[in-house]
Amino acid sequence: MTEDGHPIRVLLASANSHKLREYTQILAGTGVSIVSPADAGIALEVAEDGTTFLENARAKAIAFSKAADFPVMGDDSGLVVDSLGGRPGVYSRRFGSMPDDEGRMACLLQEMNKAESKSTSARFICAIAVAHHGKVVFETERSLEGTIASAPRGKGGFGYDPVFIPDGYSATLGELSAEIKNRISHRALAAADAASFLTESIV
Ligand code: IMP
Repeated sequence: MTEDGHPIRVLLASANSHKLREYTQILAGTGVSIVSPADAGIALEVAEDGTTFLENARAKAIAFSKAADFPVMGDDSGLVVDSLGGRPGVYSRRFGSMPDDEGRMACLLQEMNKAESKSTSARFICAIAVAHHGKVVFETERSLEGTIASAPRGKGGFGYDPVFIPDGYSATLGELSAEIKNRISHRALAAADAASFLTESIV
């Protein structure tokens, strides 16, 4: 909250409706409110050509913060699978050049079946960079550890959620409720770090 009791507005440097929904739910009650690029009247395409999640998060935050007069949160996230040497990683959204999540999950399971290692361990990673007036003022990277299921299960969430079983659960993120995902996820942990920064500092 600001001193006059209003939530701190932060622009999400992403037009991804799934992320927008999750961040809005995760940050409810923290004193930080998410503004979408559409609501701010900003339309920007930022190339995701970094080799790390943080590089991509920084690039998005910096680009959008040059067009906004309040703080911007850039994020980049993806799935890192040990038996695939860390792939799909920063290429999660474009994996196998598949047009949709079903194709990407099928491609992932196919690649894992072909892999020498039979390990199913994996993690989701979320990097967030907060920028203001073109400069990064905060960054964090958090993960959610788990394993990959042998086939997709559940219709909740988005992306690779139906094949990801978080450690400590037997259900996939596609089967677990949004409430549980938004408590334990890589995005929830990183967003909590960013919210603490935003509410404790004068940006
Ligand atoms: P980007 O952060 O927009 O580059 O996209 C990251 C991609 O990683 C998404 O399109 C999904 O395929 C995947 N991903 C990231 N976070 C999640 C998640 O919470 N659940 C499922 N898939 C995710």
